[in-house]
Amino acid sequence: MTDSSRRFEVIVIGLGVMGSAAAYHLAKQGKRVLALEQFELDHRWGSSYGESRIIRYAYTHPTYVEMADHSFHLWRELEAESGRRLMFTTGGLDFGMSDSASLTATARTLQDRGIPFEWLSPEQSAARFPQFRLEPGVAALYQPDAAYLHASACVITLSELAQIHGATLRTHTLVTGIEPLSEGVRVHTPDGPFDAARLVLTGGAWSGKRLGELGLELPLQPTREQIVFFHAPDRTLFTPDRCPVFIVHEQPWFYGLPDVDGKGVKMAIHCNRQPTDPDRTNHNPDPQYLERIKALAQRYVPAGVGPVSEARVCLYTMTPDEDFVIDHHPEYPQIVFGAGFSGHGFKFGVLIGRILADLALNGASAHDLSLFKVSRFRGL
Ligand SMILES: Cc1cc2nc3c(=O)[nH]c(=O)nc-3n(C[C@H](O)[C@H](O)[C@H](O)COP(=O)(O)OP(=O)(O)OC[C@H]3O[C@@H](n4cnc5c(N)ncnc54)[C@H](O)[C@@H]3O)c2cc1C
Repeated sequence: MTDSSRRFEVIVIGLGVMGSAAAYHLAKQGKRVLALEQFELDHRWGSSYGESRIIRYAYTHPTYVEMADHSFHLWRELEAESGRRLMFTTGGLDFGMSDSASLTATARTLQDRGIPFEWLSPEQSAARFPQFRLEPGVAALYQPDAAYLHASACVITLSELAQIHGATLRTHTLVTGIEPLSEGVRVHTPDGPFDAARLVLTGGAWSGKRLGELGLELPLQPTREQIVFFHAPDRTLFTPDRCPVFIVHEQPWFYGLPDVDGKGVKMAIHCNRQPTDPDRTNHNPDPQYLERIKALAQRYVPAGVGPVSEARVCLYTMTPDEDFVIDHHPEYPQIVFGAGFSGHGFKFGVLIGRILADLALNGASAHDLSLFKVSRFRGL
């Protein structure tokens, strides 16, 4: 039996955006929370590190539009509580062939949800956003509320506020095993075991391994992703007040964000489909990928092509349908988890943290989670 200093109401594994948000919401509700992270806070080996992540309403599925609405509010509340600026409105430009299925479906969903947007022709787009080149036959959907979140600042702020509300955060503490108990769970670390009534597992790309050890094999595929930052010849074109976040609805999606913190304009391909083992990922960017990004940038954002300021590797955890998995462990309901964020989870982090806290404490959430159930993989 562990002594009381090692017993908690809830243990959270992982301090990326999902775990730090869960710890924050749990501690804010006065719970005795322990959060364990294998590396330092805000490390660059997982999925939540860096200057920027897109937050947008422009989705095809209404569930994500609703979640985006809640998330915009919750990030603003977090800014108010912390006194820090975390979210920066830039507007969002989604463009592609005018008959692109994803673009037209996005417009339909925004219309149905009453979210304002406008269509721009290549000429109208060139007049307002000279950074981009839209070929004939291409249409652009502009949504004014889209923004970027300062990713690292969000994770640090959530973690610090969790501590202010009483949570215990232990970094450099690897969880080596999870043992379901009749009343709760025991988590094993090199520094000894910790017990809790509930466990929130938000292990990012490592989640599949931990869930597998608990007899739950899910189609969670970690992939190695790369991003490139360019110093544009005219950097004033890419400041957040002039350059929208953008997504080119090609296969695969090519996307980018304005110059944040002087790092340069960020560009990348969404989902490189390069499977990786998160414990053995090569974090050195590939020169060939760099050339591929340069070619796409030359085609769609010619004003952004300049010297490379940095190229970086980061991890996604893909599900086959690119929808998240947010649920209880089917056999051990005291264990809840959030995984498989498929390269688009950050924007919802502050909300998903609250959903996971509610699932752990009350067994349910006010939000419709039917899209994120484990049961959808049964028979896979
Ligand atoms: C290049 C790139 C661009 C992206 N762009 C966007 C975007 O524009 N908009 C958007 O919404 N989303 C975006 N995403 C996706 C988003 O960043 C992720 O969905 C999100 O960060 C996932 O957070 P997480 O907390 O699940 O994972 P992570 O941040 O990886 O956190 C998991 C944590 O668990 C820890 N951990 C794992 N196992 C253990 C263990 N056994 N013991 C202790 N600690 C453990 C890890 O060290 C890690 O810190 C992007 C992702 C990438 C890679």
